Amino acid sequence: MAHPKRRLPGNAAGDFYVDETCIDCETCRWLAPETFFPVAGQSAVLRQPGSPEARRQALLAAVACPTASIGTLAAAPEMAEARAAFPVPIAEEVYYCGYHSPKSFGAASYLIVRPEGNVLVDSPRRSETLAARIESMGGARWLFLTHGDDVADHGFWRERLGCERILHVGDAGGSTLDCERILSGGDTVELAPDLRIIPVPGHTEGSCALLYRESFLFTGDHLAWSERRGHLYAFRDACWHSWRRQTESMGKLAGYGFEWVLPGHGRRFHSDRETMRAQMEECLEWMRGRG
Ligand code: SF4
Repeated sequence: MAHPKRRLPGNAAGDFYVDETCIDCETCRWLAPETFFPVAGQSAVLRQPGSPEARRQALLAAVACPTASIGTLAAAPEMAEARAAFPVPIAEEVYYCGYHSPKSFGAASYLIVRPEGNVLVDSPRRSETLAARIESMGGARWLFLTHGDDVADHGFWRERLGCERILHVGDAGGSTLDCERILSGGDTVELAPDLRIIPVPGHTEGSCALLYRESFLFTGDHLAWSERRGHLYAFRDACWHSWRRQTESMGKLAGYGFEWVLPGHGRRFHSDRETMRAQMEECLEWMRGRG
């Protein structure tokens, strides 16, 4: 839990604060942008929430924070409400799970709710509250793991929800060797008519994206929106396998149509298809210039 004695000096006076255990995963800054800001390589509360919506977002950030670095004087019932709010809707039947794990350096995870079986995309932190909520929404048939960095508490979710874990062999190892479905090769896999798994090696050897209904693209750490650059991009400094292969994979991905980019790290992006195509081209050009 965050501790007032470790409160960072950059925090504004008041209820909410960030303490020195922050790992700068960025989650609170996109989840509660009116409250949390970057300060000296970490996050801090530069403005205390000034509206009910800003307060709700700050409470969600306190729950989502992977390292419990956000402190608040909020009363127990208000915190319980925030804990029970996840998964929160993004659009249509796609939800954001919150509960980031330090084991995946605070990567985001998602839930797709569909009549043929729900899909959990990457692993949230272990939580009975979240598990009960997901159960009430129909459970999870699959736990799709985009790559080996974001598997976090996959064993807990397998046990708790009985979901089939899916991971590419290029990233399987240690505790993930017993995943129920290990993919291989570079061909797109049709998991169901509305779900396609697209291998995108580069960030890691076994990175894969998941395309849902030709609209929602879950990208792991392959592709995200950069607030600072103002375009889609890939993490050049966090490319663990091959930048050349990642650029090739991005070229392949650009051939698909989609409207949403939902990453593990970095920001989401939503646009019409034409803008998305242009963004993918800009991303590719940017990547080629950094070979
Ligand atoms: S969510 Fe937590 S760890 Fe991540 S930047 Fe905010 S305070 Fe730091």
